[in-house]
Amino acid sequence: MRLIGPHVSIRENIALSVARAHSIGATGFAIFTKNQRVWSSPPLSDADAEGFRSAMEADGYTHSAVLPHAGYLINPATPDEELWRKSLSLFLDEAGRASMLGLTVINIHPGAYREGTAEEGIRRAAAMFSAVLDSIPGMRIAIENTAGAGTILGSSFEELDALLEASGASERIGFTLDTAHLYGSGYDVKEDPEGILDSFVRRFGKERLFGMHLNDSKVPLSSKKDRHSSIGEGYIGKEAFYAIVQHEATEGIPLILETPDESRWPEEISMLLSASEA
Ligand SMILES: [Zn+2]
Ligand SMILES: [Zn+2]
Repeated sequence: MRLIGPHVSIRENIALSVARAHSIGATGFAIFTKNQRVWSSPPLSDADAEGFRSAMEADGYTHSAVLPHAGYLINPATPDEELWRKSLSLFLDEAGRASMLGLTVINIHPGAYREGTAEEGIRRAAAMFSAVLDSIPGMRIAIENTAGAGTILGSSFEELDALLEASGASERIGFTLDTAHLYGSGYDVKEDPEGILDSFVRRFGKERLFGMHLNDSKVPLSSKKDRHSSIGEGYIGKEAFYAIVQHEATEGIPLILETPDESRWPEEISMLLSASEA
């Protein structure tokens, strides 16, 4: 069975996110580890972490079904030294929370380099990833591919590879492929979903695919924009998602819906789960 489900809210108590996923038939899910809009939050209590872990166990989720998403304030590639340091300490905090929750991976955007060169941005991002891996034993980092607007890093397999190499090619670094971002950056995931996953696997190996974000796209191929649609409502279309959930590279990893219409999540989950078993 594929691990499919949405990015659910952690409001009120992080343990409630598990029931939100379970109640709509999700076999996997994503969360933020804290309020992602603010730099500083009260620490995660042992009781809340334990509540989350027990809820996971009660509802039959293993850690491999969950892909926490680091907050958007973090910019690993920034040339601004103060922002880089604040980003590192927030990323450490969030990765530490993920670890307390019993999770072993955290998804992060590589960030925007703003000025200077992409190479410099890649070095700064890689330095941040290495620092997090050094500080949090057992934690893995899933670098998310991007649509590539402006100076945002991570919009091509070449650039993802450069980030990996600059981080010392640790086996604890891998990737999340977001289908809407692939499409925005010019990978035609509508026409050739298998070919794109095959070329990822040839380049990095199946073991570097830590998760996927399954989003249809509101904007056309190569738009460089990041606008998600419900599955089947955008430019990519349902068939490509059926092929993705049947591809062997997507077995055993979280496949996360970041689609805009919450009311359609149950239907999207059941549609993709049945397609994965076809
Ligand atoms: Zn993301
Ligand atoms: Zn995404």
